[in-house]
Amino acid sequence: MQHIDTYDFTGKKAIVRVDFNVPLDENFNITDDTRIVRAMPTLKKVLEKGGSLIIMSHLGRPKKVDPKFSLSHIVDHVSECLGVPVKFAPDCQKADELAAALKPGEALLLENLRYYAEEEGKPRGLAEDVSDEEKAAAKKAVKESQKAFTAKLASYADCYINDAFGTAHRAHASTALIAAYFPNDKMFGYLMEGEIKAIDAVLKNAKHPFTAIIGGSKVSSKLAVLENLLPKVDNLIIGGGMGYTFIKAQGGKIGNSLHEDELIPQATEILAKAKELGKNVYLSVQTRVTESFDNDAPSKLVPSHEIPEGWEGMDCGPESSKIWREVILGSKTVLWNGPVGVFEMPNFAKGTLDIAKDLADATAAGAYTLVGGGDSVAAVTQMGFAEKVSYVSTGGGAMLEAIEGKDLPGIAAIRD
Ligand code: AMP
Repeated sequence: MQHIDTYDFTGKKAIVRVDFNVPLDENFNITDDTRIVRAMPTLKKVLEKGGSLIIMSHLGRPKKVDPKFSLSHIVDHVSECLGVPVKFAPDCQKADELAAALKPGEALLLENLRYYAEEEGKPRGLAEDVSDEEKAAAKKAVKESQKAFTAKLASYADCYINDAFGTAHRAHASTALIAAYFPNDKMFGYLMEGEIKAIDAVLKNAKHPFTAIIGGSKVSSKLAVLENLLPKVDNLIIGGGMGYTFIKAQGGKIGNSLHEDELIPQATEILAKAKELGKNVYLSVQTRVTESFDNDAPSKLVPSHEIPEGWEGMDCGPESSKIWREVILGSKTVLWNGPVGVFEMPNFAKGTLDIAKDLADATAAGAYTLVGGGDSVAAVTQMGFAEKVSYVSTGGGAMLEAIEGKDLPGIAAIRD
């Protein structure tokens, strides 16, 4: 594995996997260019050091060639950010000539990789009623053609850089498989490197007290996270919809609040394990409840363990926020993933926004704070605190898998 700072890019072509999967409005204007901006240090470095760029990404989830998902929509903005006119290859598999013609300092953007099923290596368009044998045959066929697809991408370049943390948990052609074609010329980009350092700062080198705040809708989607974090943390704050399963597991009354009865045994086990390990678990003590899942529904505050019949928890109450704030401000490392209320509804976003503030304050007091996951990142950004926490991750799913303790294929492929 090489390092972007020391690798000699002079006269070399670098194929760089970035995550330019940016949101577009109905006129194909970029509504948030964070992902593009955050790839710039890597892209600019290659150009500065005398190399040329072949930039590749996916955009959305097209199931076939579909102009709606064309990366041509963003090429002008990428040019503007990069400071050089970026050429565009309208077919990522037919870019030989354009790639060969690149001179040092020039850049080429390939069309959406996911126009091809080979990028993900999953068969497409199978009828619902196909047999298991047919499914297996289709899977085998696409895996086979994936080799040629990957080899074609690799043929354009002399070295490979992965700077797409958002897809690092996927073993796709451009995120992992291509690395094998560059055994001595593969490296992480700066964004990827930053994400890896941030993950290590909490999972491997955390200063204590270490607090994890885990929220969101379902215990089932965060179970592996909780299990991996429990032995590492000192304090675990569990909020949001998933918190009610824990409250029910403790015998609390949760009314109509979101919960998963089938996860009660696991929730009970986590609470017991925390006790055994001497870890503090902080559930919500006070909840803002409504009679309907509606931003404008009248709400009231009740103890989280005594939610009346017919009412459901929408946000944590100020009493919970107060306790959590003290825990967060007393920490040296804080990891946050998932909202502690129905953050999308402005009337129930307060608890989540309060956490964002607590993290900014903890950071100012010297703690290392990492925010990962779509809603938590949105909360921090909405509050204007993105620069006031230690690190804001660009990968929702990838960050979740990393804090589950999984080896991410996009990272492993560079390190191997
Ligand atoms: P996740 O994708 O698992 O991180 O969950 C995020 C979702 O959890 C958001 O859409 C929130 O609206 C939702 N959520 C948070 N708290 C609650 C709650 N008390 N009731 C229902 N949904 C919630």
